[in-house]
Amino acid sequence: MESRSKKLRPCLGQLRPYVAGKGFTEISRRFGLSPENIVKLGSNENPYGPSPKVAEALRTISPERYPEPEDLLSGLSGYTGCPEEMIVIGAGMDGVMDTLTRLFLEPGDQTFIPIPTFSYYEILTTMAGGTPVFVPRGCEFEVITEIPISAKMAFLCSPNNPTGNVTSEDDVRAMVESTEAIVFLDEAYVEFADRSLLELVEDYENLVVGRTMSKAFGLAGMRLGYAVAPEWIADQYRRAAPPFFGISCASVAAGVAALSDLDFMHISVEKIRAERKRLQTEIRSHPTQANFLYIETAEPSNLFVEKFLRKGVIIRDCRSFRGAGEHHVRVTVGTTAENDRFLSTFREICA
Ligand code: PMP
Repeated sequence: MESRSKKLRPCLGQLRPYVAGKGFTEISRRFGLSPENIVKLGSNENPYGPSPKVAEALRTISPERYPEPEDLLSGLSGYTGCPEEMIVIGAGMDGVMDTLTRLFLEPGDQTFIPIPTFSYYEILTTMAGGTPVFVPRGCEFEVITEIPISAKMAFLCSPNNPTGNVTSEDDVRAMVESTEAIVFLDEAYVEFADRSLLELVEDYENLVVGRTMSKAFGLAGMRLGYAVAPEWIADQYRRAAPPFFGISCASVAAGVAALSDLDFMHISVEKIRAERKRLQTEIRSHPTQANFLYIETAEPSNLFVEKFLRKGVIIRDCRSFRGAGEHHVRVTVGTTAENDRFLSTFREICA
């Protein structure tokens, strides 16, 4: 047994594996609930799903062929207003970040990570043999704008998962200008926010903006993400990426169709923003520009979450987010009916 584990890379000893939000199947089995009676508000998905054009497009794919990315790249170029040369794609933004970190991180390198935040940045750093340097966010979850000289990469999530706040343009500029590190600005939730900082990529050689089709476009199950990067980075990305960038015929067809129907996406974002406002007035949560709320709990968050799970309402315990402490939960904004169910459960539990 010992000789087997000696074969494993030592960095695995440092790894804190990714904790995903709970799914319908797990909760249905654990509590004997039927999946139709479960409301899933733990994974920041879009309950309205994608444009109906996606289902039509999926009927026409040729699964026997390898995927061709051209139409997807031109769709993303049209949507972002950025030239195709600056756009890279992958299996979710997770896949994009995976390839990107392989371009830059070597054993011993440090990365700058303001916490609490999305945990995959830490996992990628650890798996590269690097060391994440965690810097706690302030009282309003603001970040320090001076990146330590030792950092090779910095990860900034805005709107931030799980806190929901955004970092201002001035602060992002200050961060990028404070360093020669590659700054990865994660805009997974940006369509729900007031504005994007994508245009800043034009101004810097060390800024990459990550995006995804998983949230506003309702395609989480398709695993399709992209980033806009300076050309020198995008060129190297294409050299180092896995064959076909980890995309599939299905994800390309779905992505192209979703991008051809921006009206659908905008309408679903508007509904979510309206519901977010309603939830925020009913529940004292931190201000948010994402499709989720970050809520402080009086009792330990795991006990709080457990009460919801028993009643078939899946919300996210934030203890697995480094730096979030033991008293926070994250709740995705769902449909009106889902949010009503959450609110009535909330009142019952907190009464
Ligand atoms: N960044 C953030 C902040 C996220 O919350 C997520 C999804 N949980 C991702 C990236 C990854 O998204 P994708 O589904 O595109 O891999």
